[in-house]
Amino acid sequence: MDYGDPTPEDSFSRCPKCRAAVSYSEPSDRRSEEELRRAIRRCTEAAGKGFAIGAGLKGGLALFSILARLKSRRTSGSLTRKVGSLSNSEAIVIAVKETLRYGLFLGVFAGTFASVDELIATIGGRKRTAGWRSMLAGAIAGPSMLLTGPKTQHASLAIYIFMRAAVLAARCGIKSKRLGKICKPLTWKHGDTFLMCLSSSQILSAYILKQDSLPSSYKSFLNKHGGKDLVILQGIKDIASGMPFTNLLEVEKYYKSVGVDIKLDPNMKVPCSIVHGNQSCTGHVLSFLFQAYGRALPVYVPVYLIPALIVHRQGLLKRPYTILGKSLLGTARSSLFLSAYCASAWLVFISLWSFQL
Ligand SMILES: [Zn+2]
Repeated sequence: MDYGDPTPEDSFSRCPKCRAAVSYSEPSDRRSEEELRRAIRRCTEAAGKGFAIGAGLKGGLALFSILARLKSRRTSGSLTRKVGSLSNSEAIVIAVKETLRYGLFLGVFAGTFASVDELIATIGGRKRTAGWRSMLAGAIAGPSMLLTGPKTQHASLAIYIFMRAAVLAARCGIKSKRLGKICKPLTWKHGDTFLMCLSSSQILSAYILKQDSLPSSYKSFLNKHGGKDLVILQGIKDIASGMPFTNLLEVEKYYKSVGVDIKLDPNMKVPCSIVHGNQSCTGHVLSFLFQAYGRALPVYVPVYLIPALIVHRQGLLKRPYTILGKSLLGTARSSLFLSAYCASAWLVFISLWSFQL
């Protein structure tokens, strides 16, 4: 072994293939140290961000529901609470727990994913494992969902994530040479609209025929934007399932309470009078559209305004009118979508009955 001064050649590594000298600006142990530091930074950042997003989202939602709860308690004015319902402090404790759980879930999920990814890359080589590394890391990170509570089932969260995965898989499939042909229908023009129609038919029939199959928050969302009292929905459900009416008197009573005096025919063929009282069909669609727009606005104002305030806060100072204008346009357009969607749902629903005759 030669411990003497290295010849100039020795300070170079040699490429194993062509034996050409490859110079590095830094010695290799310092490089690996920096690499290690980068990996650790990536994992802790992923875990921290995951926690912040999970806790932020869940905490925000919990905060809204607690505020809504306090408000409804105050407006209903009743001091007696229903048997089995929670007190405000119990609700707050549950909300804090849920917030921490979701933060932990996303934090551990993102942290595990990044750590496993880095670990495999270090052991097996970054390039060599590129094809399957993230898949394995994702599968190992998945069980972190148990942190959201081992006794509760989170089917909707899992389905949501599955949907996102399916979307990404479809995008990869469209670009891939081997699966491109199978995924061709996904690129058809207006294929997205077709998919929307399929989903809508399921959602709307569940809304009218099987409300108990819907998750409670979605049920209340549909009932709010469907704009019809539950009594009316029951009447429609009866006639739609070909059963004799069970609650025509209640429907009449409901219309009386909003100032409409009608007498319902138990042998009616088209449920117009149940859906829109003594209004004409066109009049109903127009007035419904107008009211639905008013119901949709409060949904979309925060959806557009909060990202504008958080994501574009620097741009907001520089060009406030462009960003606020875009948010306003987005709010107006999305509200128009939701209200037109609901109005046309009722329009088509009634029209189908008329065609059937
Ligand atoms: Zn009608």
